[in-house]
Amino acid sequence: MFGVSRKWTNWAGNQTARPTEWVSPTSADQVVAVVAQAVSTGRRVKAVGSGHSFTATAVADDILVDLSRMSGVGVVDPHCAQVDVAAGTTISDLNEALAVQGWALANMGDISYQTISGAIATSTHGTGSKLTGLAAQVTGLSIVDGRGELRHLTAGDGDDFRAAQVGVGALGIVTNVRLKVVPAFVLRAVEAPMRLSSVLTELDELADTNDHFEFYWIPHTGWTLTKRNNRTDESAVPMKRTREWWQKSFLENTAFGALCAVGRRAPGFIPRLAKVLPSSGEVTYSNASHRVFTTERRVRFVEMEYAIPREACAEALRSVTKMVEAKGFRVSFPVEVRFTAPDDVMLSTSTRRASSYIAVHMYRGTDFTAYFREVAAIMADHEGRPHWGKMHFLDAGDLAALYPEWDTFLEVRRRFDPEGVFVNGYVRRIFGLAD
Ligand SMILES: Cc1cc2nc3c(=O)[nH]c(=O)nc-3n(C[C@H](O)[C@H](O)[C@H](O)COP(=O)(O)OP(=O)(O)OC[C@H]3O[C@@H](n4cnc5c(N)ncnc54)[C@H](O)[C@@H]3O)c2cc1C
Repeated sequence: MFGVSRKWTNWAGNQTARPTEWVSPTSADQVVAVVAQAVSTGRRVKAVGSGHSFTATAVADDILVDLSRMSGVGVVDPHCAQVDVAAGTTISDLNEALAVQGWALANMGDISYQTISGAIATSTHGTGSKLTGLAAQVTGLSIVDGRGELRHLTAGDGDDFRAAQVGVGALGIVTNVRLKVVPAFVLRAVEAPMRLSSVLTELDELADTNDHFEFYWIPHTGWTLTKRNNRTDESAVPMKRTREWWQKSFLENTAFGALCAVGRRAPGFIPRLAKVLPSSGEVTYSNASHRVFTTERRVRFVEMEYAIPREACAEALRSVTKMVEAKGFRVSFPVEVRFTAPDDVMLSTSTRRASSYIAVHMYRGTDFTAYFREVAAIMADHEGRPHWGKMHFLDAGDLAALYPEWDTFLEVRRRFDPEGVFVNGYVRRIFGLAD
């Protein structure tokens, strides 16, 4: 289980760690042993998933617990439509294992490289105004707390369970997750450019009449790229191989990456380069849901994303568009907008409110601070809650007012981790803990 310690870097390359030990347990008992030993020797432990968070949430400065060897998907219980998933399983492997059994996740984000436990820890979500993020699809989880005890939590455990659904890695190490699933389904995708003014006028209709609606505003243009994914009973008609390569691999990765690289060297060209994006035309295809939800991402970037009340979406986005031009920022990455239903998970970014999500990105290696700070100020005007795994500048003082059950979460955290075994710099900052 103990491996040679080495440098850890996240996907975006903006967070690194040099843990004193790198541990790869294969069972819950081994996780218990690691945590119990850490408690008795006054050390700290941090679980890492696939390193797809942009914040320092997964940075391990002492013992790094790599869950990649705790992977696997159980047999779906058809009576309750639930499945057990080992904590280190990637969403990609989960999707394939469910598909073989004729099941699927109802909704998910736009990539599948994350582990299930990393994804729920940060309130990862997709889009769909009648659907929640992943954490609200969790019906039970097993977690090793800061005393080294393995606990099995379900809805019957009340606050403890609702806190652990989005624990931001601060309550313990999750070893197993029980998830709701749905019978496998086919999604029909329509991807088409649309004027920003039309999207904002028709926003409610677009969000409510499509199962999964999202759009990307292309900075320096009046255009968006829209994506409408709807369930269909018809058989899948996937894109032809060459078309798929052209659209998803070449245009969305190779060509887009080249455009970003040119933009980084010569930001003055970005507004002209941006005009190329809406010319991609309409694309229609259908496929197994997980193949439509998720895409390949080879162009590296850093990202900030805020959840705001659904009704504030159009006004907030208009403010972002005006601000980008007024401040003269040169932004090569589209601004992504998504929607989710409210849930009752304590630190879910959609807790108790129907939400829209506005996400801004900057190509890796480009200074993002000024742009992100301006966007953050607009989101603050709309009680914006930052994604736990994406860049933000808030601390406990700001966050407390944004979550109705903030104090309850802090009380649960104190009980779960009285010695601060799972504390790192990020946990300290967002929960206001002393050094
Ligand atoms: C290209 C890209 C696309 C993305 N798309 C989306 C999207 O569509 N929607 C969205 O909401 N987010 C999205 N994200 C963000 C991503 O889903 C989250 O940051 C997610 O947490 C990453 O999961 P991970 O397995 O990489 O976890 P990590 O980043 O490694 O860890 C995240 C947190 O989980 C904790 N953790 C990990 N494993 C455990 C465990 N077993 N027990 C307890 N805590 C644990 C870590 O300590 C840390 O606090 C995207 C990120 C990237 C880079």
